[in-house]
Formats: sequence, C-alpha cells, structure tokens
Amino acid sequence: MTKQFNTKNYDYLIVGAGPFGMTFAYEAAKRGKRSLIVEKRSFIGGNTHTHTEEGITVHDFGAHIFHTDNKEVWDYVRQFADFNGFQNQVIANYEGTLYNLPFNMNTFYQMWGTKTPAEAKAKIEEQKEAALKDLGDRQPRNLEEQAISLIGTDIYQKLIKGYTEKQWGRKATELPAFIIKRLPVRFIYDNNYFNHRYQGIPVGGYTQIFENMIDRSNGLIDVLTDTDFFDHKDTFLEEFPRVLYTGMIDQFFDYKFGELEYRSLRFESETLDTDNYQGNAVINYTDAKTPYTRVMEWRHFDGLGDKDKTIITREYPQDWDRSKEAYYPVNNEKNTELYKQYVQEARQNAPEVMFGGRLGKYRYFDMDQVFNDAFNTVRQEFGVAQDFNFAHDKA
Ligand code: UDP
Repeated sequence: MTKQFNTKNYDYLIVGAGPFGMTFAYEAAKRGKRSLIVEKRSFIGGNTHTHTEEGITVHDFGAHIFHTDNKEVWDYVRQFADFNGFQNQVIANYEGTLYNLPFNMNTFYQMWGTKTPAEAKAKIEEQKEAALKDLGDRQPRNLEEQAISLIGTDIYQKLIKGYTEKQWGRKATELPAFIIKRLPVRFIYDNNYFNHRYQGIPVGGYTQIFENMIDRSNGLIDVLTDTDFFDHKDTFLEEFPRVLYTGMIDQFFDYKFGELEYRSLRFESETLDTDNYQGNAVINYTDAKTPYTRVMEWRHFDGLGDKDKTIITREYPQDWDRSKEAYYPVNNEKNTELYKQYVQEARQNAPEVMFGGRLGKYRYFDMDQVFNDAFNTVRQEFGVAQDFNFAHDKA
C-alpha cells in the first residue's frame, strides 16, 4: 500500500533538516505556509548538530564556528540563541613543533625568526620566485601554486601540503586554488582564524536554533526524522506541489550523468579525566603521516572551566562512497562541469524542485552563506523584498 504523506495539505516538502531547509520552513511558516520536513537521520540541524555531555557542548560533525560579515545573517541567528564571543585561534602541530595559524607574523617568526612585515614579505618573495619560476603574471593554477605564491615553500611544506593532501585525498596540484584562500594571510601579529567581523558559537549549541524555529512556527512545521526521501521519492513528488531539496543533487537524479565527487569525514571522541587536555579548542596535525587532521577539545569552545572531565574529538578525513555522509564537495573543473549538467536537468525536468545547501548547490558553503542563500530562496519564492531580522516579533 502506498503511504500518504501530504495528509495536512502541506505547501512544501523539504528534504533535509539542516540550516537551509529549516530556515526556509521557518520563513514559510511566518508567511502562513505549512511544511513537512523529511530527514533521513534521527535528529535536526544537519551537520551543525550538537549535543551536551558532561555539561560540555559537543559538535557531532566537527567544529562549527559561526563567522560572518553579513549583519542580516548575524542578527537573524541570534534570534534563536545567545552567542558567546569565541574567537578561533588554531595551533598547528608539525612533527612536534607548534605554530600559530592562520599564517601571520607569529607564524613567520616561529618559522624563520622574521620580526617585521618587510622581513617576512622578503622571505616569502624569495621562496616564491625560486619555486614558481614560470608563474609570471598568470593566475595560480592549483592549490599548491596558490599556497606557495601566498606564503612561500617552507610554510607550504610544513603547514599546508600534508594537511591538505590527507584532508582531500588528492595531490595539492590537483585541487582548486580557492580552497587555500579561505585562510587569511596577515602581516600583523593576529591569530584569529577568520577575518569576519562577527564570530561566536551559540551557548548550549546549535540544535536549539532549529528547535526554536519549530517551536515558533505556530505548528506549521512538521518533521519526520529517520525518513529517507529516496525510499518514497515518487510518492513525495506526486503528492507535494513544491519541493525544497537539500541533499546531493546528483543523487536526486539517480546519478544519471555520473557521480559528483565528495569528501567524507569520520570522528572519534574520547572523554578524559582531566580538566584540560590540549590547552586549545583546535590543534591541527599538519604532517602527512598522522591519520587525523585535527583534534578538538570541546570545553574550550564555551570557556567553561570548572569540570574534572574533558571531551576530545579526532577528525579523520575519509573517501566518500554512497554508504557515507558527504561533507565537502570537491569543486574542481571536472565536477563543476558535471554539476552544470545536473543544474540544466533540474531546470528542464524538475521545475517544481528548489535545490539548496552545500549538497544541493554543490558548493563549499560556510554556515553564514547557507543562511544567506536560504534568504535568497525565500525572496525568490515569495516574490518580494523580504525583511528577515527579528521578523518573528512582527509576525
Ligand atoms: N589548510 C591547511 N593547513 C591547515 C588548515 C587548513 O593547509 O592547518 C588548508 C586545507 O587545504 C583546508 C583549507 O585550508 O582544506 C581550508 O581550511 P578550513 O579550516 O577553512 O577548512 P574546514 O574547516 O572547512 O574543513
């Protein structure tokens, strides 16, 4: 017997309860529209999901630090949670020697003993010229060329190459240059990992943001967890007039043009009988041999100091296959071309479906970009200039 899902005359089916789907559902609810969200996992929030253990907020899918220059997004998320003032200051451990990240005057001093910006720039220029003789005026063609042209060969060899190649499972020469441009390069003594003006973590974790969206939806959002859209795809598409899909776009079309490539992760957590294991929220292991890329110690994300236990998580990159969660799109040329075919297919054969989020758009979005992109989808769907800030007060 075919199961009926659209029993309440929902306006939208939303596939995936991550930030994109939840934000759209909440904004639709404010406009009187009813959504059913189907989520294959047993919880909401997607990869931002957090839980609390030993009084410590643990991010289940790797460190999520909210950072943005977009005031609209910043005001928006703070409707649903208080944010602490956490600033990410990452330490790199290369074969037992520690360096500050991102690449700044402290790193240059630790690497070369340079004390002024002019000395550091001269060192980088010298290494860049020696390593990239043929670069001239052309743009760097891959991550390795980009990294060397930004910070020279020593830092590339010790802090980038090993980390990047294990993170992505590919040679740095086969990766797009833009990935390394996520990290700031600064000629001041400043270890803030992000350049953004607003930065923090919700006190008590991210999950409350999405719980609050549901609580404030006047009953217009229903969520079915442990429900895989693909187990009932045809029924869903027949029953729902409008669909927002935040899963992998290639899977939506049954991989008909071939698989897009993704990178996956695996996490191993441990509770330890100490109040302070590593003295920092994140330590990156940048050599090629250590199988994990970074170790997070969660208590340092919310600055809570009086417990006798600590929880750490080691993050291991792994190859993606259809049995694993996709974490990162691999936005190289080959995949970008393939993705365009899926976009074309979506336009032609699935006009009732909107695609969103990291997997639906196949883009290496940060959280703030996901919220912003959800706003854009809301604007398109509801057809007018929409105001998002504190809108629940006005509703
Ligand atoms: N990266 C690196 N060394 C580090 C940290 C990052 O080479 O110690 C490079 C690596 O290629 C990584 C990219 O910078 O994929 C972006 O790092 P980010 O911390 O932004 O990655 P995310 O937190 O999104 O995994």
